[in-house]
Parts: sequence; C-alpha cells; structure tokens
Amino acid sequence: MKLLSVSLAALATATLATPALADHHEEAEMAQAEYPMTPQGAADWVAMVEQTMSDFSLEAAQIYWVNATYITQDTDALAARVGAEGTEMSVNYALEAAKYAGIEGLDADVKRKLDMLRNGIVLPAPTTDGAATELNEIATSLNSQYGKGKGTLNGEEINGSDIEAEMGNLERTPEELAEMWASWHTNVGAPMKDDYARMVEIANEGAVELGFDNVGTMWRSGYDMPPEEFSDELERMWQEVAPLYQSLHTYVRAKLNEKYGEAIQPANGAIRADLLGNMWAQEWGNIYPLVAPEGAGDIGYDLTELIEEKGYSEVEMVRVGEQFFSSLGFEPLPETFYERSMFVKPADREVVCHASAWDIDNKDDIRIKMCIKKNADDFITIHHELGHNYYQRAYNEQDYLHLTGANDGFHEAIGDMIALSITPEYLVQIDMLDRDEVPGADKDIGLLLRQAMDKVAFLPFGLLVDKWRWGVFDGSITPATYNSAWHDLKREYQGITPPVDRPADAFDPGAKYHIPGNTPYTRYFLARILQFQFYKAACDAAGWEGPLHRCSFYGNDEVGEKLNAMLKMGASKPWSDALEAFTGTREMSGEALVEYFAPLKAWLDEQNAGKPTGW
Ligand SMILES: [Zn+2]
Repeated sequence: MKLLSVSLAALATATLATPALADHHEEAEMAQAEYPMTPQGAADWVAMVEQTMSDFSLEAAQIYWVNATYITQDTDALAARVGAEGTEMSVNYALEAAKYAGIEGLDADVKRKLDMLRNGIVLPAPTTDGAATELNEIATSLNSQYGKGKGTLNGEEINGSDIEAEMGNLERTPEELAEMWASWHTNVGAPMKDDYARMVEIANEGAVELGFDNVGTMWRSGYDMPPEEFSDELERMWQEVAPLYQSLHTYVRAKLNEKYGEAIQPANGAIRADLLGNMWAQEWGNIYPLVAPEGAGDIGYDLTELIEEKGYSEVEMVRVGEQFFSSLGFEPLPETFYERSMFVKPADREVVCHASAWDIDNKDDIRIKMCIKKNADDFITIHHELGHNYYQRAYNEQDYLHLTGANDGFHEAIGDMIALSITPEYLVQIDMLDRDEVPGADKDIGLLLRQAMDKVAFLPFGLLVDKWRWGVFDGSITPATYNSAWHDLKREYQGITPPVDRPADAFDPGAKYHIPGNTPYTRYFLARILQFQFYKAACDAAGWEGPLHRCSFYGNDEVGEKLNAMLKMGASKPWSDALEAFTGTREMSGEALVEYFAPLKAWLDEQNAGKPTGW
C-alpha cells in the first residue's frame, strides 16, 4: 500500500551510488559562474534544479512503471540504471544545496527548498575517496542479507515470508514460536552488526558535510521545526495515547496468561514477544480470535459477500472507490486512469502485485497498480490507494519540490482516513448493505478491538524504531549496547520481552527489515495518529453526531472542500499550515484516536478491573 511517485524523496530512498566525482567538480565550477553565491543566484539555481528533476522524474516514472508491470531482465536493468542516475543527481544537488543554504538574506521559500534538497537523502555519503562506494556496498549487502534471511521451525529452515506467516499461526505451540523468534533474530540480525556499525560511521560523516550533527538530526529536520522540538512533539503524542495502549496491553496479557499459564506468560510484567502473532510484536491482529469478546465476533454482514452479491468486477470496485471521492465534490478520474492502470494480475507475465499509487507526469497521469481480488481487503485497499492519487492530483499546480505530502506522515494518513470511512453507514449509502442489516451497538466492541489490535498495538513500536536509531546516530547507543538498548526500548514503550535470553553478540534490531533497509520509521507513527485526526475533522465538518467510529461523510461536499484545501497545498507550506486548512488546528494530536476508541477503552478497563496493569 505504498505510494510511488518519483519525487525527491523517492529518488533518494536508495543509498548513494558513487557520484562521478571528477565530472562533478567541473560541473560545480560551472555552476558557480552561472549561479553565484547570492540570494538571487540561489533562487535561480533552485529553479534550474526543479526543472531538471521534473524532466528526469517523468522518464524515471515511465521506466519504473514498465518494470513493475512487466518484470524482465531488461526492465530490471533499465530501472537499476535510472535509479543510480537519480541517486547521483540527488547527492550532487544535496551537496550544492548545503553550500547555498549558508547564504545570508535568502528568500524564505528558497531556503526551505534548499533544506528539502539537503535533507532529502536517507543515507548521505561523505565526499572522501571511496566512502560512497563503501557505503553503497554495505547498504546493498545488508538489504540482500535480510532478503535471504532464514529461521528454523522444528529444526527445518524456513524463509522470511513463511516465517512471518507462521508467527501468526494460532496452531503453533509456544516452543515453536520461541524457536522461530530466536532463530530469526539470531540468524538474520547478528551477522549484520559490524557492517551496520561501519555504515553508521560513514553516513554520519556525510551528514556533517551537509551541515547536520548526525544522520538522526538530519532525519528529524524535515518537519519545519528544530529536531529536538520534533522529538518532544512525538513524546507528547505518545503520552496522549499511552493509557489506551496500556489498557489493551493489560487485557491481552490477561488473555494470554489464561491460555498459556503462568510459566509461559506470567500475569504480571512484560508480554512475551513471540505470543502476539507477529515477529516484532508490532501488530497483534493475528491473535484476535484469542482475545475476541464473546458473542461479538460476528458483525452480521460480510463485506466480501456483499461484493459478490453485487457481482462487481475489479474495475467496478474501483468505480465505487472513485464515487466516494466524486461524492465529496472531487473531479472524476481522467480516462487515462482507467486505460493505463493495472487492476488485475496479467496471465502472461511477471508483475509486482503489491498495491501502489502512481503519479507519472506530476499532472494528471495518475494510476494504481494492483492485482485486485474481489474481497473486502482489496475493496478497502482500493479506497486507500485512490486517496494517494487524489492527493497527487490536488497538489499538481505546486512547484516540483512541493509535490508531496505536507510531511511524510500525511500521504499514508490520507489513504488510511479514507479506508476508515468504510463504515456500515457508508455501505448503506452506496447501496451495498440494507439499513436493517447495520450491526447494533452490541457489536461495536468486537469491531473496535479488532481495529485496535493492529492500530493501537502498533503505536509504541512505530515510535521506538527511530528512537533507537537516533540514539545510534548520536552515539548515545554504541555497538556494545546496540542490542540491550533495543530491548530496553521495547520493554519501556511496548512492554514486550524476548522469549529467551539474548546472546551478548546478538543484533536483534537487524531482524526488522527497516533497520538494514534504512527506511525511516517515524512516518508510520505519524500516519497512525494523523489518520484519526483527519477522520474526525471530516466527521465534524459533516456534522456527524453519533459515535466517531460509525461516522460516514459520504456525499458531503463541504468536507471535500476542506480536505481539498489541505491536499492542494502539497508541501508548499509548513505542515502545520496544511493541517490547519483541514482540521482547524496546527498541532498533530492523538486525541481523535483516543475518542475513536473511547468505547473500547471503557470496556477494556471494566475487564481489567482488579488485574495488575503496567510492566
Ligand atoms: Zn499507502
């Protein structure tokens, strides 16, 4: 469910390739003459860069699209080539931008764009000889080590995607779960440790060349506020939602204690990491059947069956999603969307089925790429992906560097807000459900608990991954404490503990893809928080008066207008301006999430009465 537009961020997702240093030197001297170190020179240089990147992004997007929808050796080669070219371009521009950023008297907008160029790289290499090559080799190797990683189940080797699925299999015994957990963390993580430490060292030097203290402050500098202030903001949001997480933790721990007994899961203290249905204990939906309230499992209708009853084709499912946005007053999708999107898995070639939303030309050549199945999950995913497309089209008048979400949490949050809106009330409005089949309030707890097992359970994990990395990058966490610091954070925020003692040389963070993959993680925490904030803003604007989780704002063009006011800004203004345009507030907040789950929180606290809380 990712977003794919070849914006600066996408160009820079890859690690740095070696820039052609000799050529770059000459280019830099020429640039110096044409774009002098003056405020006007900087403005002209930024305009040139935006034009160059915009031209490049069209070609790159076309190549990536063909590659993703027709995987061959040749299209792989094309994609690798254009990827390396894009990386080199963004590296060179970041270094140049760092120089221009020091000029006195810069126009505020030019300064902000220079900062976007400067911090748009995930892992910056320093310009010292061989550093970029070494960094690139390490990052590539870490990635491929993860991809080839294996654990064991009953002594037999088992690959990454299978072991992930097996961790969610309720038939597995605690011994099997512990074996899979420990073997995966040990086999995948431990061998990466030295490489990872070296990579941190090199990338930090690169960050310093770009004018940052270290890579962690560089990652935190993309939020229109000082990095320390942003860390405080995250902590504040966490404190808003922590009591809800704690209630869920207490309830789930008691259920696991009931099922497994005191020896496996004590009634007190942290929860054993392998019992929550997920290798990282980051989402717990897989064990919902173990915790479901009695009699609330069946909500009275099945969305997959409703889709079957309607006899919808894959394209018709997409038309229903489009209708959601049309009902809010958005223009219909262009014909090219239907001509050029990939909706079903082609019979005769390899494609990337993972759902994604694309913006090929930064104007209106928007598309989705999916292998749609006629079921509830894909119906929801269609709504989510279209959220990305409407966002992309809404900001298409902006400058190139502003063609993205207001901050990196916004884009995913828009898609998820739309997905939250697929309530029974909405299904009635679009004539998929009869009014008398709308589940009664007695089903609410089951519905909310199922949601919370994923969305609430994720919150502390979404926060701690980068907390650990910021510590690694600023040196407060050293290679000697990599592993203990990781588990300390998991205990402190998640209340989770490993099922077995960890060896001294373990490197358990490496067993989570985003660590060797070098993907910043805070965006996922922000998206979880923001989607509820957006959803509540829409429901308020629609005048919804019932419980928040049942709201539908389908057909309300006032909501559409407000939403569009935020979307069309893209990243042209600080994110708090964009947030204000839609929600009327300038602060990100977990309050809407808390309100959404309030009936569940009350119910959980009743169930938890008399039980120990916390860990
Ligand atoms: Zn998405």
